[in-house]
Parts: sequence; C-alpha cells; structure tokens
Amino acid sequence: MSDVHKRITGIFDQVIKRNQGEHEFHQAVKEVIETLEPVLRKHPEYADHKIIERICEPERQIIFRVPWVDDKGEVQINRGFRVEFNSALGPYKGGLRFHPSVTLGTIKFLGFEQIFKNALTGLPIGGGKGGSDFDPKGKSDAEVMRFVQSFILELYRHIGEHTDVPAGDIGVGAREIGYMFGQYKRITNRYESGVLTGKSPAWGGALVRKEATGYGAVFFLEEMLKTRGIGLEGKTCVVSGSGNVAIYAIEKLQQYGAKVVACSDSNGVIYDPAGIDLEIVKQLKEVERKRISDYVKLRGGATFIENGNIWDIPCELALPCATQNELDGGDAQTLVKNGLLAVSEGANMPSTPEAIKVFQDAGIAYGLGKAANAGGVATSALEMQQNASRDSWSFEYSEERLKVIMQNIHQNCYDTAEEYGSKGNYVLGANIVGFRRVAEAMLAFGVV
Ligand code: GLU
Repeated sequence: MSDVHKRITGIFDQVIKRNQGEHEFHQAVKEVIETLEPVLRKHPEYADHKIIERICEPERQIIFRVPWVDDKGEVQINRGFRVEFNSALGPYKGGLRFHPSVTLGTIKFLGFEQIFKNALTGLPIGGGKGGSDFDPKGKSDAEVMRFVQSFILELYRHIGEHTDVPAGDIGVGAREIGYMFGQYKRITNRYESGVLTGKSPAWGGALVRKEATGYGAVFFLEEMLKTRGIGLEGKTCVVSGSGNVAIYAIEKLQQYGAKVVACSDSNGVIYDPAGIDLEIVKQLKEVERKRISDYVKLRGGATFIENGNIWDIPCELALPCATQNELDGGDAQTLVKNGLLAVSEGANMPSTPEAIKVFQDAGIAYGLGKAANAGGVATSALEMQQNASRDSWSFEYSEERLKVIMQNIHQNCYDTAEEYGSKGNYVLGANIVGFRRVAEAMLAFGVV
C-alpha cells in the first residue's frame, strides 16, 4: 500500500470514528477523498498542512430547538441545524432543507458536497447547509410561517451577507424564504438583501434563480453529450421528482426538443408516453401543492404507478432530481440494459456508489450532482452580486451567465479528468477542481 493510499484510508477511518452513524456523510466523504490520491502525490504540501483532514471537519455546527404552536394550539418541537462547513472561498453558502428525515448527518453530507460544488462555480462562496426535521407537507400557511419565524429567531444571529447566506432546498421555496426574510428584517432592523437567496424577484431576488438548478443540469448534460457528438433533440428522458429542480429540468429539455416521458413524487410515478404536459405539473405542484397522482385525472393516456420505480422506464437520458440515494446499482443496470446514454444529476448524491460504478463501467456519460446541479447555487451567487450592487439583471442576461458558468464547470472537469489520465470521468475531474481551489486558499491562510 502506498503512503498516500494509507494516509487517505486513515483519514476516512477517522471520519467514521468521529461522526458515528452518519452514513450519508461517510458516503460523500469517501466519494471525494478516493479521487484525491493523485493530487496528494503531485502536491505533498496539501498532506503536510493536513488540508483534507481540516476540510472534513466543519468549521462550526449549530443545533437548536425550534418550538412553535400549531393550528390546534398545541406546542410542537422541531430541531434546527446549520453546518458552517468551510469559508475558505467566501461566506458559507448553501440551502436549508425541511424534511422529516433530516438529521445532523444529512446536513453534514449536503454541506460537504456544497464546499466542492460552490468552488466549482468559480464564484466567491464557501460551503454550508442547514435545515430541520420539520415536515411542511400538510401544514397550513400560518403553521409554516410560525415555524419559520421561530427557526429564524435563533438562526438570525449566525447568518449575514458576509457570514453565511442560506437559500432553499427540499421543502424550502419562495414562500419559506419570504417568511425568513421578513422575520430577519424585523429582528435586525436591516434591509439586508444579501442575507438570503432564492428571494422573490419582487423584493431582491434574481430572475432565473427558480429555474437555475434544473436548467443548469440540462446545460451540463448538453455539454457532456457534445463531447460524444450527440444532441438533445428527440431523446427520450426520464426525470425523477416533480419539485423545483425537476420542473425546470423538464422545461429546458422540452425547449431543446427532447421528450420527457416520466416524473414522480414520493407516492409514485407518472408515465406519459406522449410527453409530460408541464403546465399540468406546474399547476399541481407550484400552485395547488397537490400530489402528482392527480395528473392522470387531467391528462388522457398517462398512467400513475403507485410506489413504482421510475428507473424501470426505458430512456436514453436519466435526470435524477428527487433526493439522495434514489438510484441504486440494480436501477443503473436496468437503465444501461434499456439503452441509457447519459445521466445528469439535479439532486444531491442521488446515485449510490454501486450505481456510479455501473455507469462508469458501461461508459455512460455520468454527470455527478456537485457539478451538474451547481447552477442553482451559482445563480444564488449572482443574486448576491445583484444585491451588493443594488441592481437587477434581465432574464436573458441571467440565463446566459448561467449557461457560461455551466459550460466552464463542464470544461474544467473534463480537462482535469484528462490531465489526470481518466478521460470522461467527471467524478474525478469535479472533485479535483473543487478541492484544489479550496486547498489553495486554505494553504494561503495558514493554520486556521
Ligand atoms: N440547495 C441548493 C443546492 O443544493 C442551492 C443552494 C443555494 O442556492 O445556496 O445547491
């Protein structure tokens, strides 16, 4: 065993020991540090200064009680989190996730991913993530508002435009960000637009932020396909999820002439061989906050498969846009057997390590989340720019900026994978580009 390999194994053992039971965090760390061996060999200074060891330990972790009163007058208690992971490149930046499955381990995996994703954008943002085990599903607007106000009553002291800038993630959209900004503004008596991103364009939000993660995943996909001489037009696609990321991935795919035949939510799958009618999905999910199963009531020829597996539906392009570990090794084998060409991940870590291996062994173009879905946070950084200069940009200009950022991310990942002798391996390319940017800043700052 080489010294470098031993060192990496030792770091991973330490991470497991120090963060017991946090399996998703272990998975995210393993995926990154496994690809860093050739970097450590080339740059012994990173090992000498224990850069990887420091990156794996969050700079700060905040856990707090969130008490609130429901519509029946009963007291409810949730747990709030903010993990401020790494600020080498800028203020901590990353979303807030509200979902009953959220634990400290979930937030740490997401925060860790965010460090490298944010570095990849080339914009001045560090990495962080937060959230709560609060379940917005089935709650009234008033309940969501009271929960959010209590959440911010603690979180406000830890965030700020130069410190830590949260945004949305699963369960946190424009409504929640609105309540957060209102409460922050009231507590601090400051109209500090840059403290949160994903705001409504009516009061400081950026155009294209809502669309950015989904659009960006399609721009990244387009670039991957270009390297193989393939276009998007006429391709059959499956997009898991039906939230913000999935909806705008579908929109961009359709604009490019691709055919999206399926999407899903946690109850099941919609299969529409004629192509998904996105207006129906938008109405159900964005306006009425309903389940996707209602789609079949409004559209003939479509079927709802309760608890179905979306990856059983044959497609050439797969875009997992729901949640972590939603696509396993068996699913990957089915997709490959059914003629899959490429995967672009709108969600964070949606493919299991086994699935990634199947894709890579089969020579599928595999765009991992931290590169393919970086368009969301990149556009958040553009929102911060607009807030700082008290400006707002047009939709067209913002989308063009997003497109160029995604093209650059793709090119950097592609070139770096090639430089390290692993052409087409976006996992390796993305991890190395992201890591090196953070590592260089940390070296310059000394032991901090
Ligand atoms: N939650 C998104 C992500 O996973 C966006 C974060 C942000 O805009 O700060 O990258």
